[in-house]
Amino acid sequence: MTITIHRGIDQIGGCITEIASDSGTKILIDLGHNLPDGDSLAYDKYDNSEELDKLLDGVNAIFYTHPHGDHIGFEVQVAQRGIPQYIGETSKELMLLLKGHIAYTGKPQPKAEKEAFEKFSTFRDTETVKVDSTIMVTPYFVSHSAPDAYMFLIECDNRVVLHTGDFRDHGYRGGELMHTITQCVTRKEPDVLIIEGTMLNREDKRLISEEKLKCNAVGIIGKKKNVFVMCSSMDADRIASFYQAAMDKEMMFVVDGYQWKVLEKIENTLGKECGLYHFPQRRYFAKHQEEIRAASKANGFVMLVRNNYRIRKFIDTIYPELDSKKTCFIYSQFTGYIFKEHSAFQQRTFDFVHSHDWEVKYLHTSGHASKETLTEVCTKVDPKLAIIPIHREAKSEFRSLDLPQELKEKVVADTTVVEDVKIIIKR
Ligand SMILES: [Zn+2]
Repeated sequence: MTITIHRGIDQIGGCITEIASDSGTKILIDLGHNLPDGDSLAYDKYDNSEELDKLLDGVNAIFYTHPHGDHIGFEVQVAQRGIPQYIGETSKELMLLLKGHIAYTGKPQPKAEKEAFEKFSTFRDTETVKVDSTIMVTPYFVSHSAPDAYMFLIECDNRVVLHTGDFRDHGYRGGELMHTITQCVTRKEPDVLIIEGTMLNREDKRLISEEKLKCNAVGIIGKKKNVFVMCSSMDADRIASFYQAAMDKEMMFVVDGYQWKVLEKIENTLGKECGLYHFPQRRYFAKHQEEIRAASKANGFVMLVRNNYRIRKFIDTIYPELDSKKTCFIYSQFTGYIFKEHSAFQQRTFDFVHSHDWEVKYLHTSGHASKETLTEVCTKVDPKLAIIPIHREAKSEFRSLDLPQELKEKVVADTTVVEDVKIIIKR
């Protein structure tokens, strides 16, 4: 077996892992675009079709851990080359909804993306997908800021690789993490662990649980009447936190048409297994504007917003009628986007957040594992041969974790051969 880290050993986002059997069967885990550089699109060498051809040469299938843009970004080009692509069932449905929504605006690329997603194959939690007699992939559900994310247990040439994808244990369903790891390890003892390390260089103290975030949300919105919240439209945990906070304070919960459909989809998929993902009291802003005005004078409202024309126009219309001292904007995403010193700074997001004289509050917790959780997972998996940390900053050091010495010695960051496993690291 050969493991090639095409990208991700020294960057967050755009990770590409290849696993090839000695007989030549090849799969990729994730094929995402580099993260955007502020407001502009990031340069990505795979936008060049010759480079992409080289990468995809001989690839039999691609498995996506979850549909964040830095994990899936070339689905059209892959579909054009006839390579099968696999993703979780709910992720596929959510992506069809998203691409359909964007295509509706008349842009050509989302239409092609939607058609590519229509051809995707899906997998289910713990159900093995056999690529051929040499490679098998078993997905295991993990908690992340995308609601349908997986780690993969890959069996290849009598070797076993556990690829974690992005994960955390402080989301609502994150408590199952160590149980899931036990399930994987019991099924097959991993030889190699490929693990994300997003938080290695970041401070842990902001890593509150989603449950605690909900309590903080109750505290903030309880002092206000009019609350606008900016969070990812597909982050089911986060939306559940704000929904429940709104219900706790008997405030109206308002969304736009697209968010409405996303929540409907989440209710009809994940909601069937988890009571948390139900939003029966939600209101559609275009239909209930008078009710929203009435709510602002009664118990108040919590409205999920995104930076688009229709929502900005609605806010501009209603804002003069609101008591600005009783109004706040909660920014509930990665703060790098709105801090000018950060390389990810986005001027248009900053302008939206500060478009009115409301009080701006920051309330967020990461979708990624804390350093303690990374340590715990490595120790529990205890891979026989190697640990390959990916999805991490260039200057991060995985060996800085509080790991037993014998595990620290297994950390691989450069090309090497361990027993019969070849590991190729590209930078
Ligand atoms: Zn992600």
